[in-house]
Amino acid sequence: MNEKLCNVALAVPLRTTFTYRVPERLAAEIQPGSRVVVPFRKKSLVGVVTEWAAQGPPDAKLREVQKCLDVIPALTKNLLDLGQWISSYYVAPIGEVYRAMLPPLMELRAQQIVRITELGRSASASLLGEIEAKPALLQKLESANDGVPLQTALRSGVALGDLLKLQRRGLVEILQQIQTRKRRAQRIIAWRSAGTDAPVSSEKEARLRDMLLLQRGALPLTQLLKLGSVSRAVVERLLREGKLEAWEETLDPAEDPFDVGYTPPAHTLNPEQEHAFSAIRARFELGEFGVQLLHGVTGSGKTEIYMRAVQDTLARGKTAIVLVPEIALTLWMGRQCRAWFGARFEGVAVLHSALSDIERAREWWRVRNGEARVIVGTRSAIFAPAEKLGLVIVDEEQESSYKQEETPRYHGRDVAIVRAKLENALALLGSATPSLETFHHARSGKYELLSLAQRVAERSLPTVEILDLREEFRQTHQTSPISSRLQQAIQESLNFQTQALILINRRGYSWSVICRSCGATVQCANCSISMTHHKNRNRLECHYCGSVQPIPKNCYKCDSKYVYFFGEGSEQLEERLRKEFPKARIARLDRDTARTKRQYQETLGAFADGALDILVGTQMLAKGHDFHRVTLVGVISADSSLTMPDFRAAERTFQLMTQVAGRAGRGELPGRVLIQTFYPEHYAIQDAIKQDYVAFCERELHYRQVMAYPPFTSLANVIVRDSNLEKAITWSRELSQFLAPHNGEGIRVLGPASAPLARLKTEYRFQFLLKSKRKAQLTKILSSVLAYCDKKEIPQTAVLVDMDPLQLL
Ligand code: ADP
Ligand code: ZN
Ligand code: ZN
Repeated sequence: MNEKLCNVALAVPLRTTFTYRVPERLAAEIQPGSRVVVPFRKKSLVGVVTEWAAQGPPDAKLREVQKCLDVIPALTKNLLDLGQWISSYYVAPIGEVYRAMLPPLMELRAQQIVRITELGRSASASLLGEIEAKPALLQKLESANDGVPLQTALRSGVALGDLLKLQRRGLVEILQQIQTRKRRAQRIIAWRSAGTDAPVSSEKEARLRDMLLLQRGALPLTQLLKLGSVSRAVVERLLREGKLEAWEETLDPAEDPFDVGYTPPAHTLNPEQEHAFSAIRARFELGEFGVQLLHGVTGSGKTEIYMRAVQDTLARGKTAIVLVPEIALTLWMGRQCRAWFGARFEGVAVLHSALSDIERAREWWRVRNGEARVIVGTRSAIFAPAEKLGLVIVDEEQESSYKQEETPRYHGRDVAIVRAKLENALALLGSATPSLETFHHARSGKYELLSLAQRVAERSLPTVEILDLREEFRQTHQTSPISSRLQQAIQESLNFQTQALILINRRGYSWSVICRSCGATVQCANCSISMTHHKNRNRLECHYCGSVQPIPKNCYKCDSKYVYFFGEGSEQLEERLRKEFPKARIARLDRDTARTKRQYQETLGAFADGALDILVGTQMLAKGHDFHRVTLVGVISADSSLTMPDFRAAERTFQLMTQVAGRAGRGELPGRVLIQTFYPEHYAIQDAIKQDYVAFCERELHYRQVMAYPPFTSLANVIVRDSNLEKAITWSRELSQFLAPHNGEGIRVLGPASAPLARLKTEYRFQFLLKSKRKAQLTKILSSVLAYCDKKEIPQTAVLVDMDPLQLL
């Protein structure tokens, strides 16, 4: 008998696939890309069929596939190939790559539906009859617009193989639907006051407060009852007493309450936009793979071009993916897309990690079924199973959030380009400050460059001024984070009833706690990092591992009582501004105040509506928002990003300054930007003042070339880590012996050295940095590193391999 075998990728940390027998009863269903249940050791696991196998490993007794979860394979051919590329380029186990690409498993809620297509309806009954579809089934299919459950169809006697033949000829379609309950708004409960010092009358209350304020943030009522083990009556009482507050929130991405009545502005494109758009259309006409960089200054109307590019793609019968760097921006971009395309094309799907598993599965399958043809999402949305993909947009392509910082450590933008290539699609990268890598490719002609040099409607770019903090200190002998010039500018903005954004790079109240007597600083017990003082929450927190400590009264080392809190964070800045401008309406936006989608939106909404005068916050402020009454942007200090021990520090600083400056003067009123710094001569600051992106890039590229850094050299970061210092050292030494002979053959090996973050979450960390002009060579050596670790029995968890790292900490 000719036995059928298939290879299956399983999400186990082994760099191989496994061969299984395909039983006769599953032969019609199983195809490459199908999810299957297979026995593995003593368990059953879900995996993906990668390919047919000619034969299994010699001498192995092969086991059988137990079950097939998909009639239509979950992963398309292109996605299977994309997974292979990711697995080899980022040296990640293939099973873990596919797990990252697949939707959450919702087997119990999944239902398969057979539906007749337009083509099927118009084809004569005889055509369907040819494949022995039973007349009764045919009738049922023709009368049921929503289709017939697959199980019903099979019970009526038709063979699955025959149905699949119809499906392949396009006469019927087989859809996977995720059953969701009728959506109701959820009741969300939050603790009303911000401080933990508000009085509570019982231990139970204190527990609720800590949960809602410190541990979890606002919670759906049902979850609160369960987690807090309190009764509904207690919650109701606290609501009446005003200690808690409640609101309704629909968590359904397709029912965004902000959608109601939203119509996108319909602009006529200006000549620059027109020019860029016609270049995009010309690409579509060619119908082949290409990468374009849309480099447009802030406020130049890039979104308008994205929407038209998507529209054009849809009109050609193709699908489009729009990637944005943050979950918060999916809301806004999703709203744009639904307003533009939702009604006409019925299908915008939103994919990001904050959706519940059911929602994510449902959106994913809507795409797979062809019901949604525009996908908006964060980095993992690049795996949306859209067929006939014509366009991938990567907005703010320089954002580091596109890089996944866990296995598989892929970069969403780079994967987008590879996917576009596999699909013969166009990759459109957009930014006001493209990454140096991307700019380099555009300059060398590898990518096509489209420029928008002007803001829309003849609005001018804001003026950017530097405030030299050394000079300020000489004159005032003060160390206030708000210089007198910034103070004055804020006052003017208040007088004119316009708005101000104040950017500060750190959250919390103070970012360092130091003893004036002996100089000891309070470090995290698990990480080599200072603890941050959070005044509202009345404790110290580690921003890396989340551990907390009480605020010390005395130095832990010398017991002196001169404990000093040093370095302003956003919480302290907000307090100062309130003191300085008691009449102003001020709010703060950072990870501490915007713990839920709703809080984030409320604050931004209030600011957009003019209900706030000053918004203080971290980088969250810098991105995307289109506020029309902001005339002043203040940057408390450019220096914390400039002095990071990282070769990208200058690039990041320039980008951040330009992005945040771009929030000013987007309406009728001109904008002014004030940047405070101790390093006014630094070229990243100088070029940011002139807003001269190209000049900055030329200079920075020169430095990168001389120093052999990306984009001229490829990097890989290898970290050896363990909570036992001895082990970490031994393993680094072993790895060093393995790597040393490779040094010089087109590869440079630096290290081992103590990593900049020498200790993180209780683990000691040592670092190797690998450099090469040829990526392929790096990939090869990385996979041999992993093979060597396997041989030496160095545990997989102890060796972290990062190709094209963005962080070298
Ligand atoms: P960017 O993303 O490039 O910073 P946006 O796409 O947010 O800029 O556009 C900035 C503003 O300009 C938006 O309010 C948008 O509605 C408006 N806009 C876009 N195109 C035009 C145009 N051709 N004429 C007038 N206003 C436009
Ligand atoms: Zn001390
Ligand atoms: Zn820590």
